[in-house]
Amino acid sequence: MIEQRELPEIFESFSDARKQGFMAMKNLKEQGKGVVGTFCTYVPVELFLAVGLVPVGLCSTSDETIGEAEKVLPRNLCPLIKASYGFAAADKCPYMYFSDLVVGETTCDGKTKMYELLGKIKDVHVMDLPHNQDRPASRAIWMEEIKRLKNRVEEKFGVTITVEKLHQAIRERNRERALLKKVYELSVMSPAPLSGLQQLQILFGAQFKFDHEKKVQELEETISRITEEYQNGRHPIPAAAKRIIVTGCPIGGVTEKFTRVIEESGAVVVAYENCTGAKQFDRQIDESADPYDALCDYYLNIGCSVMSPNPNRLELLGRLCDQFKADGVLEMVLQSCHTYAIESYTIGEFLKTRSIPFMSLETDYSSGDTEQLKTRISAFIEML
Ligand code: SF4
Ligand code: SF4
Repeated sequence: MIEQRELPEIFESFSDARKQGFMAMKNLKEQGKGVVGTFCTYVPVELFLAVGLVPVGLCSTSDETIGEAEKVLPRNLCPLIKASYGFAAADKCPYMYFSDLVVGETTCDGKTKMYELLGKIKDVHVMDLPHNQDRPASRAIWMEEIKRLKNRVEEKFGVTITVEKLHQAIRERNRERALLKKVYELSVMSPAPLSGLQQLQILFGAQFKFDHEKKVQELEETISRITEEYQNGRHPIPAAAKRIIVTGCPIGGVTEKFTRVIEESGAVVVAYENCTGAKQFDRQIDESADPYDALCDYYLNIGCSVMSPNPNRLELLGRLCDQFKADGVLEMVLQSCHTYAIESYTIGEFLKTRSIPFMSLETDYSSGDTEQLKTRISAFIEML
């Protein structure tokens, strides 16, 4: 079992950030700040940051309101979609409650149709995401969608998004992305200086810190404290621990169980290829280009399984396997997520060409399958 040792005190502020963020968000609202809720990595949050709006991730990560959601939505639907709707319907998520505008996107069919129902509860704007990255028409549609969102934001909040402000927001967000990338790249070192659970808590928690400068400072401090301790000889992860890369659907909240089970089985998660990790922080937005061109190219090229074909996921995963010297790749697919479930085959075939063992597992937001996950994951790790 990997020891989840104490990290510097500052780390606590990331592991508890989602909860602490509730009060910070309430204070921001009291100061008159506008809040925009989002569900997905494809949403260009720089448009909000450029005019001082506060973006917040709404993907709900617990099963608490799934019962409420199932009064309206079908049971055999992805738990992330049900939980997201359920928290709005039950009015139980402070971030949803504080959102003046919710921006959705037509990634998967389930979310697309859920937004119709969510629109009866909240003010929802849906971006029409093309599902192909290399056709000129796809780029033209996405550019139009980015401009449509800009107009909607300006109209809703009575603001003007200037090119200068957008450049500034791109620079700030790039800085944050670079630091979060530095956090997960600490685990390129062998043995890793922190567990996958700790890495996850920093990456996930950072999105609920709304003061950019303070967040940057805390991230820099966290990186240097972890590096310093490591250089002083504190190596909490055994050198023999197998190095795992996690791919698939985003992880956070209740699905942390996936990482816990891997690390309780004696391996260490060194990187997340998913939207909680590298998929969000690996690349930078081009600061020298026209900001709309830069946003359009950056966001359209995210390697999510909703794209067809989806070469960018393979490119990133292959690169992470080399960089982190992965012993194996484990995929978490949320129940009823067809795009990730179908793409599993392609991922498995790709990893075979690199002789990297791979296993895909389906799970949901309950804890009922933890023992089953343990049995399968520990067998996988034993054979590495
Ligand atoms: S996995 Fe795909 S749909 Fe889900 S948050 Fe990431 S980019 Fe969006
Ligand atoms: S996990 Fe899959 S089904 Fe669920 S919201 Fe994301 S893309 Fe859609």
